[in-house]
Amino acid sequence: MRSKLLGLALLLSAAPAAAQQDLSKVEIRVERIAPGVAVLFGAGGNIGLSYGEDGNAIVDDQFAPLTDRILAAIATVDPDPVRFVINTHWHFDHTGGNENLGKRGAVIVAHDNVRARMSTEQFLSAMNRRVPPSPKEALPVVTFADGVSLHLNGDRVHVVHVADAHTDGDSLVHWQGANVLHMGDTFFHRVSFPFVDLSSGGSIDGVIAAANRGLELANASTRIIPGHGPVATRQNLVAYRDMLVDIRGKVAAGIKANRTLAQIRATAPAARYGMPSGFIKPDQFVEAVYNSLRNPPKQAPQAQGGKPHRH
Ligand SMILES: [Zn+2]
Repeated sequence: MRSKLLGLALLLSAAPAAAQQDLSKVEIRVERIAPGVAVLFGAGGNIGLSYGEDGNAIVDDQFAPLTDRILAAIATVDPDPVRFVINTHWHFDHTGGNENLGKRGAVIVAHDNVRARMSTEQFLSAMNRRVPPSPKEALPVVTFADGVSLHLNGDRVHVVHVADAHTDGDSLVHWQGANVLHMGDTFFHRVSFPFVDLSSGGSIDGVIAAANRGLELANASTRIIPGHGPVATRQNLVAYRDMLVDIRGKVAAGIKANRTLAQIRATAPAARYGMPSGFIKPDQFVEAVYNSLRNPPKQAPQAQGGKPHRH
Protein backbone atom coordinates (compact mmCIF):
# COMPACT_ATOMS: atom_id res chain seq x y z
CA MET A 1 0.00 0.00 0.00
CA ARG A 2 2.75 2.37 0.95
CA SER A 3 4.71 1.80 -2.25
CA LYS A 4 1.50 2.12 -4.21
CA LEU A 5 0.82 5.50 -2.64
CA LEU A 6 4.40 6.57 -3.15
CA GLY A 7 4.22 5.58 -6.81
CA LEU A 8 1.02 7.52 -7.18
CA ALA A 9 2.57 10.54 -5.51
CA LEU A 10 5.64 10.39 -7.73
CA LEU A 11 3.60 10.13 -10.87
CA LEU A 12 0.87 12.53 -10.02
CA SER A 13 2.03 14.79 -7.26
CA ALA A 14 0.62 18.27 -7.66
CA ALA A 15 2.78 19.98 -5.06
CA PRO A 16 6.43 20.40 -6.04
CA ALA A 17 7.38 20.40 -2.35
CA ALA A 18 5.71 17.05 -1.78
CA ALA A 19 7.30 15.65 -4.90
CA GLN A 20 10.68 16.87 -3.74
CA GLN A 21 10.25 15.11 -0.43
CA ASP A 22 9.40 11.83 -2.10
CA LEU A 23 12.09 12.25 -4.72
CA SER A 24 14.84 12.83 -2.16
CA LYS A 25 15.28 9.08 -1.75
CA VAL A 26 15.21 8.20 -5.43
CA GLU A 27 18.34 6.63 -6.86
CA ILE A 28 19.05 6.61 -10.56
CA ARG A 29 20.02 3.17 -11.86
CA VAL A 30 21.80 2.75 -15.20
CA GLU A 31 21.43 -0.29 -17.43
CA ARG A 32 23.51 -0.52 -20.62
CA ILE A 33 21.38 -2.36 -23.14
CA ALA A 34 23.17 -2.06 -26.50
CA PRO A 35 26.37 -0.50 -27.89
CA GLY A 36 26.05 3.25 -27.26
CA VAL A 37 22.64 2.97 -25.57
CA ALA A 38 21.64 2.84 -21.91
CA VAL A 39 18.45 3.20 -19.87
CA LEU A 40 18.18 5.19 -16.66
CA PHE A 41 15.53 4.18 -14.14
CA GLY A 42 14.53 6.57 -11.37
CA ALA A 43 11.13 8.10 -10.73
CA GLY A 44 8.87 9.02 -13.61
CA GLY A 45 9.41 7.95 -17.20
CA ASN A 46 12.32 5.75 -18.19
CA ILE A 47 15.21 7.70 -19.73
CA GLY A 48 16.97 6.48 -22.87
CA LEU A 49 20.60 7.54 -23.37
CA SER A 50 22.64 7.68 -26.57
CA TYR A 51 26.34 8.10 -25.79
CA GLY A 52 29.65 7.97 -27.60
CA GLU A 53 32.04 10.09 -29.65
CA ASP A 54 29.42 12.76 -30.48
CA GLY A 55 28.22 13.30 -26.91
CA ASN A 56 25.05 12.50 -25.04
CA ALA A 57 21.42 12.64 -26.10
CA ILE A 58 18.62 11.56 -23.78
CA VAL A 59 15.00 10.58 -24.25
CA ASP A 60 12.89 12.18 -21.46
CA ASP A 61 14.23 13.62 -18.21
CA GLN A 62 11.87 12.75 -15.30
CA PHE A 63 11.52 15.42 -12.58
CA ALA A 64 13.49 18.63 -12.00
CA PRO A 65 14.78 17.68 -8.50
CA LEU A 66 16.42 14.59 -10.06
CA THR A 67 18.46 16.42 -12.72
CA ASP A 68 21.73 16.45 -10.78
CA ARG A 69 21.39 12.74 -9.96
CA ILE A 70 20.50 11.97 -13.58
CA LEU A 71 23.55 13.89 -14.83
CA ALA A 72 25.76 12.10 -12.29
CA ALA A 73 24.43 8.76 -13.49
CA ILE A 74 25.02 9.73 -17.14
CA ALA A 75 28.58 10.78 -16.23
CA THR A 76 29.32 7.23 -15.08
CA VAL A 77 28.71 6.19 -18.69
CA ASP A 78 30.01 9.25 -20.55
CA PRO A 79 31.26 12.48 -18.91
CA ASP A 80 30.22 14.71 -21.83
CA PRO A 81 27.30 17.17 -21.42
CA VAL A 82 23.79 16.39 -22.63
CA ARG A 83 23.49 17.91 -26.11
CA PHE A 84 19.95 16.85 -26.94
CA VAL A 85 16.78 15.98 -25.02
CA ILE A 86 14.01 14.23 -26.94
CA ASN A 87 10.63 14.29 -25.19
CA THR A 88 8.31 11.36 -25.96
CA HIS A 89 5.33 13.53 -24.82
CA TRP A 90 4.53 16.52 -22.63
CA HIS A 91 3.70 14.86 -19.25
CA PHE A 92 5.66 16.32 -16.35
CA ASP A 93 7.17 13.01 -15.26
CA HIS A 94 8.94 12.95 -18.67
CA THR A 95 9.74 16.66 -19.15
CA GLY A 96 10.37 17.85 -15.59
CA GLY A 97 14.12 18.13 -16.18
CA ASN A 98 13.75 20.16 -19.38
CA GLU A 99 14.21 23.57 -17.75
CA ASN A 100 17.42 22.53 -15.97
CA LEU A 101 18.85 20.90 -19.08
CA GLY A 102 17.70 23.67 -21.41
CA LYS A 103 19.49 26.21 -19.20
CA ARG A 104 22.64 24.10 -19.49
CA GLY A 105 22.48 24.30 -23.26
CA ALA A 106 20.71 21.11 -24.27
CA VAL A 107 18.57 21.36 -27.41
CA ILE A 108 15.08 20.02 -26.66
CA VAL A 109 13.33 18.16 -29.47
CA ALA A 110 9.68 17.01 -29.53
CA HIS A 111 6.47 16.82 -31.52
CA ASP A 112 4.69 20.12 -32.26
CA ASN A 113 1.91 19.30 -29.80
CA VAL A 114 4.39 18.82 -26.94
CA ARG A 115 5.49 22.43 -27.28
CA ALA A 116 1.89 23.57 -27.74
CA ARG A 117 0.69 21.84 -24.55
CA MET A 118 3.72 22.87 -22.47
CA SER A 119 3.22 26.48 -23.57
CA THR A 120 -0.27 26.75 -22.07
CA GLU A 121 -2.03 25.64 -18.91
CA GLN A 122 -3.23 22.06 -19.14
CA PHE A 123 -5.90 20.19 -17.23
CA LEU A 124 -5.38 16.47 -16.69
CA SER A 125 -8.94 15.29 -16.18
CA ALA A 126 -7.97 11.77 -15.03
CA MET A 127 -6.03 13.36 -12.17
CA ASN A 128 -8.22 16.41 -11.69
CA ARG A 129 -5.05 18.43 -11.91
CA ARG A 130 -4.06 21.71 -13.50
CA VAL A 131 -0.53 21.97 -14.90
CA PRO A 132 0.80 25.51 -15.40
CA PRO A 133 2.63 26.56 -18.57
CA SER A 134 6.34 25.72 -18.56
CA PRO A 135 9.05 28.39 -18.60
CA LYS A 136 10.66 29.17 -21.94
CA GLU A 137 13.83 27.22 -21.17
CA ALA A 138 11.77 24.03 -20.73
CA LEU A 139 10.09 24.20 -24.13
CA PRO A 140 11.22 22.16 -27.13
CA VAL A 141 13.12 24.40 -29.56
CA VAL A 142 13.11 21.89 -32.41
CA THR A 143 9.64 20.56 -33.17
CA PHE A 144 8.30 18.33 -35.91
CA ALA A 145 5.02 17.01 -37.28
CA ASP A 146 5.84 13.49 -38.46
CA GLY A 147 9.32 12.73 -37.25
CA VAL A 148 12.98 13.68 -37.22
CA SER A 149 16.32 11.83 -37.20
CA LEU A 150 19.40 12.52 -35.09
CA HIS A 151 22.63 11.22 -36.60
CA LEU A 152 24.71 10.63 -33.53
CA ASN A 153 27.30 8.26 -32.15
CA GLY A 154 27.42 6.18 -35.29
CA ASP A 155 23.69 5.53 -35.20
CA ARG A 156 20.53 6.97 -36.68
CA VAL A 157 18.09 7.82 -33.91
CA HIS A 158 14.73 8.03 -35.65
CA VAL A 159 11.93 9.84 -33.79
CA VAL A 160 8.50 8.81 -35.10
CA HIS A 161 5.24 10.56 -34.19
CA VAL A 162 2.25 8.34 -33.42
CA ALA A 163 -1.06 10.22 -33.42
CA ASP A 164 -3.66 10.45 -30.65
CA ALA A 165 -2.27 7.62 -28.51
CA HIS A 166 -1.25 8.22 -24.88
CA THR A 167 -1.55 11.94 -25.77
CA ASP A 168 -1.70 13.83 -29.07
CA GLY A 169 2.06 14.42 -29.09
CA ASP A 170 3.65 11.01 -28.61
CA SER A 171 6.80 9.83 -30.31
CA LEU A 172 8.58 6.49 -30.51
CA VAL A 173 12.37 6.69 -30.62
CA HIS A 174 14.19 4.05 -32.64
CA TRP A 175 17.94 3.51 -32.60
CA GLN A 176 18.17 1.88 -36.01
CA GLY A 177 21.73 0.63 -35.64
CA ALA A 178 21.68 -0.45 -32.00
CA ASN A 179 18.19 -1.94 -32.43
CA VAL A 180 16.62 -0.22 -29.43
CA LEU A 181 13.10 1.23 -29.35
CA HIS A 182 11.79 3.67 -26.71
CA MET A 183 7.98 3.56 -26.73
CA GLY A 184 7.31 6.41 -24.30
CA ASP A 185 4.02 6.05 -22.46
CA THR A 186 2.32 4.28 -25.34
CA PHE A 187 3.74 1.20 -23.55
CA PHE A 188 3.33 0.54 -19.81
CA HIS A 189 5.16 -2.72 -19.15
CA ARG A 190 4.13 -4.81 -16.12
CA VAL A 191 3.60 -1.82 -13.83
CA SER A 192 -0.03 -0.92 -14.51
CA PHE A 193 -2.73 -0.87 -17.11
CA PRO A 194 -1.87 1.94 -19.51
CA PHE A 195 -2.89 5.51 -18.87
CA VAL A 196 -4.78 6.90 -21.87
CA ASP A 197 -4.83 10.66 -21.35
CA LEU A 198 -8.08 11.60 -23.07
CA SER A 199 -7.77 15.21 -21.87
CA SER A 200 -4.49 15.47 -23.83
CA GLY A 201 -5.97 14.05 -27.03
CA GLY A 202 -5.15 10.40 -26.35
CA SER A 203 -7.28 7.48 -27.50
CA ILE A 204 -7.36 3.71 -27.10
CA ASP A 205 -7.24 3.20 -30.87
CA GLY A 206 -4.19 5.44 -31.05
CA VAL A 207 -2.45 3.44 -28.29
CA ILE A 208 -3.15 0.23 -30.22
CA ALA A 209 -1.89 1.85 -33.45
CA ALA A 210 1.26 2.99 -31.61
CA ALA A 211 1.89 -0.55 -30.37
CA ASN A 212 1.45 -1.83 -33.92
CA ARG A 213 3.87 0.82 -35.19
CA GLY A 214 6.38 -0.29 -32.57
CA LEU A 215 5.94 -3.90 -33.67
CA GLU A 216 6.67 -2.87 -37.27
CA LEU A 217 9.90 -1.17 -36.16
CA ALA A 218 11.03 -4.01 -33.90
CA ASN A 219 12.35 -7.49 -34.52
CA ALA A 220 12.93 -10.47 -32.23
CA SER A 221 16.16 -9.04 -30.82
CA THR A 222 15.04 -5.40 -30.32
CA ARG A 223 15.42 -4.10 -26.76
CA ILE A 224 12.23 -2.15 -26.05
CA ILE A 225 12.16 0.60 -23.42
CA PRO A 226 8.62 1.21 -22.12
CA GLY A 227 7.61 4.55 -20.64
CA HIS A 228 7.30 2.79 -17.29
CA GLY A 229 8.52 -0.66 -16.28
CA PRO A 230 11.47 -2.89 -17.14
CA VAL A 231 13.10 -3.27 -20.57
CA ALA A 232 10.94 -5.50 -22.75
CA THR A 233 11.05 -7.67 -25.86
CA ARG A 234 8.97 -7.60 -29.01
CA GLN A 235 7.08 -10.59 -27.64
CA ASN A 236 6.14 -8.53 -24.56
CA LEU A 237 4.86 -5.78 -26.85
CA VAL A 238 2.82 -8.30 -28.83
CA ALA A 239 1.19 -9.51 -25.60
CA TYR A 240 0.47 -5.91 -24.56
CA ARG A 241 -1.08 -5.08 -27.95
CA ASP A 242 -3.19 -8.25 -27.81
CA MET A 243 -4.41 -7.33 -24.32
CA LEU A 244 -5.43 -3.85 -25.49
CA VAL A 245 -7.23 -5.25 -28.54
CA ASP A 246 -9.07 -7.83 -26.39
CA ILE A 247 -10.26 -5.33 -23.77
CA ARG A 248 -11.16 -2.76 -26.42
CA GLY A 249 -13.20 -5.40 -28.26
CA LYS A 250 -15.13 -6.37 -25.13
CA VAL A 251 -15.89 -2.76 -24.24
CA ALA A 252 -16.92 -1.99 -27.84
CA ALA A 253 -19.25 -5.00 -27.82
CA GLY A 254 -20.83 -3.73 -24.61
CA ILE A 255 -21.37 -0.28 -26.09
CA LYS A 256 -22.91 -1.85 -29.18
CA ALA A 257 -25.28 -3.81 -26.92
CA ASN A 258 -26.28 -0.52 -25.26
CA ARG A 259 -24.74 -1.46 -21.93
CA THR A 260 -23.82 1.27 -19.49
CA LEU A 261 -20.27 1.72 -18.24
CA ALA A 262 -21.32 0.13 -14.92
CA GLN A 263 -22.75 -2.88 -16.73
CA ILE A 264 -19.62 -3.26 -18.83
CA ARG A 265 -17.42 -2.96 -15.75
CA ALA A 266 -19.48 -5.66 -14.07
CA THR A 267 -18.35 -8.08 -16.79
CA ALA A 268 -14.75 -7.37 -15.76
CA PRO A 269 -13.25 -7.22 -19.26
CA ALA A 270 -9.74 -6.57 -17.90
CA ALA A 271 -9.84 -9.07 -15.04
CA ARG A 272 -7.91 -11.88 -16.69
CA TYR A 273 -4.85 -9.69 -17.09
CA GLY A 274 -2.94 -9.91 -13.85
CA MET A 275 -1.33 -6.53 -13.29
CA PRO A 276 0.33 -5.13 -10.20
CA SER A 277 -1.91 -2.59 -8.52
CA GLY A 278 -0.28 0.29 -10.32
CA PHE A 279 -1.80 3.68 -10.66
CA ILE A 280 -4.31 2.77 -13.36
CA LYS A 281 -6.71 0.15 -11.96
CA PRO A 282 -8.64 -2.24 -14.23
CA ASP A 283 -11.85 -0.25 -13.70
CA GLN A 284 -10.11 3.01 -14.56
CA PHE A 285 -8.68 1.52 -17.72
CA VAL A 286 -12.06 0.13 -18.77
CA GLU A 287 -13.59 3.56 -18.16
CA ALA A 288 -10.90 5.23 -20.30
CA VAL A 289 -11.52 2.73 -23.11
CA TYR A 290 -15.26 3.30 -22.83
CA ASN A 291 -14.94 7.08 -22.90
CA SER A 292 -12.42 6.93 -25.73
CA LEU A 293 -14.74 4.80 -27.88
CA ARG A 294 -17.75 6.96 -27.04
CA ASN A 295 -15.90 10.14 -27.86
CA PRO A 296 -13.03 9.41 -30.26
CA PRO A 297 -10.57 12.12 -31.36
CA LYS A 298 -11.79 14.28 -34.22
CA GLN A 299 -9.14 12.86 -36.52
CA ALA A 300 -8.83 9.10 -36.42
CA PRO A 301 -5.23 7.98 -35.85
CA GLN A 302 -5.12 6.18 -39.22
CA ALA A 303 -6.40 9.30 -40.98
CA GLN A 304 -3.74 11.49 -39.41
CA GLY A 305 -1.39 12.75 -42.08
CA GLY A 306 1.49 15.07 -41.35
CA LYS A 307 -0.53 17.87 -39.87
CA PRO A 308 -0.16 18.77 -36.22
CA HIS A 309 -3.47 19.52 -34.59
CA ARG A 310 -4.90 20.60 -31.28
CA HIS A 311 -8.10 19.65 -29.57
ZN1 LIG B 1 2.68 10.09 -19.79
